[in-house]
This record gives sequence, structure tokens and C-alpha cells, in this order.
Amino acid sequence: MALSGAVRSEHVAHVLGFPRIGGQRELKFAMESFWRGEATEADLRATGKELRARHWQAQAAAGMDYVTVGDFAWYDHVLGTLVLLGALPTRFNLDPSTLDLSGYYMMARGSKNHLEDHFALEMTKWFDTNYHYLVPEWTPELSFDGGVDWLFDEIAEAQVQLSSSSASAQTKVVLLGPLSLLFLGKIKSGLSHKLDLLPKVVAGYEKLLARLRDNGVALVQIDEPILALELSREWLDAFLPVYIRLANAAPSLLLTTYFDTVSEHADLLRSLPVAGVHLDGVRGVAQLQEFADKWPEDKILSVGIVDGRNIWRCDMDTALATLKPLHDKLGKRLWLASSCSLLHVPVDLANENKLDQELRSWLAFATQKLDEIFVLKQALSGNADAVAGQFAAARAALAARRSSPRIHNPLVQKRLKAVTSTDADRTSAFPARIAIQQQRWNLPAFPTTTIGSFPQTAQIRQTRAAYKRGEIGHLDYLNKMRDEIRLAVSTQEELGLDVLVHGEPERNDMVEYFGEQLWGYAFTANGWVQSYGSRCVKPPFIYGDVYRPEAMTVGWSQFAQSLTQKPMKGMLTGPVTMLQWSFVRDDQPRATTALQIALALRDEVCDLEKAGIGMIQIDEPAFREGLPLKAVDWTDYLDWAVRVFKISAGGVKDETQIHTHMCYSEFNDILPWIAAMDADVITIETSRSDMELLDGFGQYNYPNDIGPGIYDIHSPRIPNVDDMVRLMEKARGVISDQRLWVNPDCGLKTRNWTETHEALTRMVQAAHTLREKGGLKLQVTSQHASRLTPAAA
Ligand code: GLN
Ligand code: ZN
Repeated sequence: MALSGAVRSEHVAHVLGFPRIGGQRELKFAMESFWRGEATEADLRATGKELRARHWQAQAAAGMDYVTVGDFAWYDHVLGTLVLLGALPTRFNLDPSTLDLSGYYMMARGSKNHLEDHFALEMTKWFDTNYHYLVPEWTPELSFDGGVDWLFDEIAEAQVQLSSSSASAQTKVVLLGPLSLLFLGKIKSGLSHKLDLLPKVVAGYEKLLARLRDNGVALVQIDEPILALELSREWLDAFLPVYIRLANAAPSLLLTTYFDTVSEHADLLRSLPVAGVHLDGVRGVAQLQEFADKWPEDKILSVGIVDGRNIWRCDMDTALATLKPLHDKLGKRLWLASSCSLLHVPVDLANENKLDQELRSWLAFATQKLDEIFVLKQALSGNADAVAGQFAAARAALAARRSSPRIHNPLVQKRLKAVTSTDADRTSAFPARIAIQQQRWNLPAFPTTTIGSFPQTAQIRQTRAAYKRGEIGHLDYLNKMRDEIRLAVSTQEELGLDVLVHGEPERNDMVEYFGEQLWGYAFTANGWVQSYGSRCVKPPFIYGDVYRPEAMTVGWSQFAQSLTQKPMKGMLTGPVTMLQWSFVRDDQPRATTALQIALALRDEVCDLEKAGIGMIQIDEPAFREGLPLKAVDWTDYLDWAVRVFKISAGGVKDETQIHTHMCYSEFNDILPWIAAMDADVITIETSRSDMELLDGFGQYNYPNDIGPGIYDIHSPRIPNVDDMVRLMEKARGVISDQRLWVNPDCGLKTRNWTETHEALTRMVQAAHTLREKGGLKLQVTSQHASRLTPAAA
């Protein structure tokens, strides 16, 4: 089907999606008050409607030719696709035709009451981003026949809005494509291959697309991000027949790929019966010319030239130079876009009053990126003079950034040069270290611990905010935070946990907290990016060489340790996560920036050790997510990622126990590297997958200590002792008792104290049950049974 855009007089400009959460996190607050029962579904819906209207208005006002409809989600767009198709996981027993937001959130968050007891859908990272989607559950009886009308309501809203506006923008509907949807789900039962569901899925999309066409939708952006992965033959072979079928029923389709090059699929993409294809022109810049050279005469090529994954202002001259030859080949069939959805960047630089003028001039957030796309469109469409000023400003900002003394730190440069290969290694191997550590602490079998944070109460947040605003002084702040630490420590002692944490009350966010204390990092006031559901993060950005001017956590940890005889874990965020959850400078390799962070952390680790902290946890929840999408690029990444972790940890004595923590990702394919990190103890998230994630560790014979999470901290549902013991029994089937720890999946900051208390009480009970069951009874003679007491001794 031909598209009106193909005969336009100018290049078409659009974005693949706009952040849905709102510049002031309006959607987050609306969702949360709905969950607390303080707002009605109508209230929440009104906020969503308001935000959508605002975001469409921003796109139209910036000169986008399309506004994107369907990028909104009440929690997650993958779950949104399921409810649109009616493919609700059967275990929830929900009727898709009458689904309301309470039912929707039951799937997203789990629930427990007298009627039902449901685990939330599993959550996992969206490709290599820090966005988390809810994993569809595939079972043979699922239906894709149609679900809620929400998308159709949104389309109607957009159509009304556009018809009453002076802008000439049209609506474009975005859908997650059928093959990506299917691929991203997980088989729960009764299917031998996900593709077994394909006929049903395709029939569902056919119906949906036909309905969209009947509703006057002319263009559907259909996202198939899995094309940026290394797909097996069967998945690739599915594309052509699927799209032949969909093309019959559908409005014009713009099939999008993003996050990496898809040049290996060029033949396939040329052959698909779609109106056009979108390519990521930032990560896959090398593929552009090759595609353009052989691009079919009747097809659009949308090029994502403005980076949807980073916050640096676009290098407009380079972008234009990239686009020019494509323009010469394709003429107006070249469309200009963001590389991917703008979901992954903050909303608007105009909300930033905190950044100094110089830093601001280096950046572009979602709203500014709209302008950049428009300026490039103008330059290519013969209106270069009209945008010469914008080009000059971008050029000047880039030049100023390159030469700024804020970027280059000679102390860091010197330190980098002095790094040796032995800096990464501990003195002894794990068996020797763990023996020394065990002698030092004499922990019981199945030692209990938590991941670091305790409930971040409103009071804690208010205190931090008041301190930040200068409303309370240092001493007042210190005392209040110490009270929180006292509470966390005494609670853990009462509960009988074995290895304690200070609870992290002083931390807003595990990356921002450190970024604020390191040179080379900057942070925003409102640079919120959705991480999952209502959770947003404000990633700092790394603009210069990273340097630690002074200790960052030692005072807090030392104070916490002074309150207890039990070991207190120091708590740091690892170098890979510090990198991964920040916007990273684009003027040197990521590995170099990571090494700079690792050296700063190494100094902190050594300072903690000197201050008497004997256990130090270096969290790396983002370790897996840093993996390049294509396996051919993995080894390079994993090698430097492991090395920087080891450099951060490698400065301590054998008797100091290094912990790490990872969560919400698949570990099995990178186990050799996780083992190579050589942390003495790793705690991981496993309860959502019912311990499935642990199997790989068992098969791989993971050598060091491991704590598989037995409490899903994202769910308001608290498992009972038997559930927890059952999970640990599963763990015992694959890991030896001597190596096992007992802990939740992740930090407890999002839970309240009542839940936390209840969950940890049960967790400690579960550990006691295991000690008894396993024959690893507490010895009456010593305070604790040695962890190494053999089961039958
Ligand atoms: N120590 C952190 C906490 O407990 C770890 C958080 C995470 O893994 N994302 O909050
Ligand atoms: Zn975690």
C-alpha cells in the first residue's frame, strides 16, 4: 500500500515513541495513588489522557509529521500489547473484554487477598536498556482474538486533538510486532516451541490491524526489535509469510528495527511487503548507505539519526553528512526519526534548573530531540538557511565540550596508566579465602542476609529532600539518618539475621548517590527515565574523567558496624552498573570510562576495609544488561566488564569478604564470566522464576557462595515459610548446602516496614527450618553451627 508520505514535498519527520511517564513523573504518582486506593480508575485515566495530549502536542508543535499513538502504557507496553490482543496469561482468570486497571495491575504486580493469590508476571530487561518489560506467558489455550479498546480510545483522542490543531501532523499507531511479542514471551506449559503459537498470534494481529484500518488509521509503526538480535533460521523464516498475511489486512506498515544494525537481514527487509522500514542510524550507522543503495523504489526508509539512547546534543554536521547521500539516493522516501523510542531519555531539558549553563548546552532530552529531527528535516528539504542558526549553535556547543577543561583530569590519566594486570586479582583463590573468612565469622549454615536497602519511608525521603534544599543542617541530617540506621540494625538483630546491612537511608538511588560524589558525573533535577511500572530513575551523566575526591560511604558503614557485633556489609554500586545506569560520554570507549569508575571504587573498598568493614558488597545488577545484543560482540564486553569489577574488588585482603548482587536478568549464558568475577558471595534474584534461574549455576558448578533470592521484593505478596523452604529445597538440589545463603531477591526499599518485617521473619524461620532439616543443626556448644559442618556429622 502506498503512503501519502511517499509523495510529500518534504522529508517526513517522526519519533518512534515519546516518554510516557511525564516530565514531573505525573503518571507514576497517579498510578501509585490508584494502587493505594486514594484515586479512582477515572482519576488515573484522566492523568494518562492529559499526558498523551501533551506529548502529541509537543510532537506536532515541533514539526513532526506524525504523532505517535500507542506508545503510552499504564505500566508496560508489552503487557499493553497482551491486553490489546486479549492474550492474558490464563492463570489470572481475567476476562479481556471486561478488564479494568485493577485487573491489569494484578498481572503487573501480583496480588494476594482472601480470593486469590497471584504472582506478578516475570519482569526482565528490554533488550540492552534499563527499561523492564513484563514477560508474556505462553500456553496453548491462549487466545489473541481481541481485548480491551484502550488503544482505540487513544486513537480517537489523538484524532480529535489533531483535527482541532493548526499543525498538519497525522496519527501513526505503534504496535509491538507479532514476532517480537512472541519471541519476548516465555513458554509456561504445553508448547514445544513459541512459534507453535504463531498462527493464532498472526490471526490476532490481522484482526487488530483490520480494525485499525477501519478506524481510519493510515500508518502503523510495527516494532520488530528482535531483528537486531542474532535470530535463528526459524524465526527469520517466519517474517516473510507473516508480513505477507498482515499486509492484506493492514494500514500501511512501517516496520522498525532498532538498538543495532540489521544489515545481515537486508535481503529479508527489502522483500517484506511493508510500506517502509526503519533503521537505527546511530548504533547502525554503517548499514545506512548499503540499505539505501539497494532500496526498493516503492519503499520508505526511515533513518533514526537522533540518538534515543543518550542525552548528548546531536552532532548536526555529522548527522547531515550522513543523511545527504541517503537523501540523494532516496529523495523524499527518506524519513527522519529518533534512533528508537525516546522512552529511554528524560522528557525536557527545560525542566532542568540545576545544571549549569555549560553542561546544559551539551545536552538534548526528548523534547529537544524533536527539534533536532525537525532541523535536520529542514536542512535536507532545501530550507538550510532557515536553520543555519541552529546548526551553528550545535557546532559551537560541541566544540566547547571537546575542549572543556572539565572533561580532562590529569590525576585520572596518570592513575589509568599505572594499572597493572595483577590489580584485578585477590591474593588467594576462593577456597583459601572462604576458609579464612569462615574462621573469622563462624556463620551458621544457610546464613541469612538482605541485599542492602530497607524501606525508604516517606519520612526518610522528606528528610533527604529537606537536607538537599538546605532546610535542615548537617548535624540534624546526620542524626536523623543515624536513627534510621539504628532502626535497621536493631530490627535485623531482633529478627536474627546473620549478616547485616545499614539500610541505605541516605541513598536516593544506587547510582545517583555515588555519581553525586564523584567528579566527572553530573545529575539532573528532573531527568527521570522509566525503569519499570511506576519506578523511574534519574540517570546521572558522565561527561568527564571520573575521580573520587574523598571517601563516599565509610562514615555510614562505620557507624552501622559500631552498633552490632555481627558483620555489617559495606554497600557499593559496581563499576559496570555505575556505567550502565548512567548516560555515558561518547568521546572515549565505554571500557575506559568503566575503568576510571573501577579505580574510584577500588579506593573506596580499601578505605572500607581499613575502617574495619569486613564484608563489602559491590552491586552489579546491570552487569548482564551491558551485554551487546549480538553474541559476536559479547566476549569483548565481558572481558572488560569482569576486569573492571575485579579491579574494584581486588585491593583487599583474603579475610575481607566481597559480595556482589545481580537481579532481573538471565544469567545462564554468561556464567563463566560471573564466576570469573570471583566475588566470594553472589546474591541473585530467582524467586520470580521459581528458582529456574539457579539451574544454570548448578549445571555450571558455580564455585563460590551463592544466595538465591526467595522473596520477590517487587510484589506486595509475601510468601509463607513453606514457600521459602520449598524454593531453598529446589536450590539445594543444584547447589551444595555449604555454598548457600538465604536472602530476598533484591533490596527492600520499595516495601514498607510491616511487609519487610513479616517477610524477613519468615525468611529467618525458613533458614532455621533448613538448618534443622539439612542436619546442619545449630551446635549447642558454639554460638553458631559452622557453615562447614557436614550434614551427617
Ligand atoms: N543494594 C541495593 C539495594 O538493596 C541493590 C539494588 C539493586 O540490585 N537494584 O537497594
Ligand atoms: Zn537487585
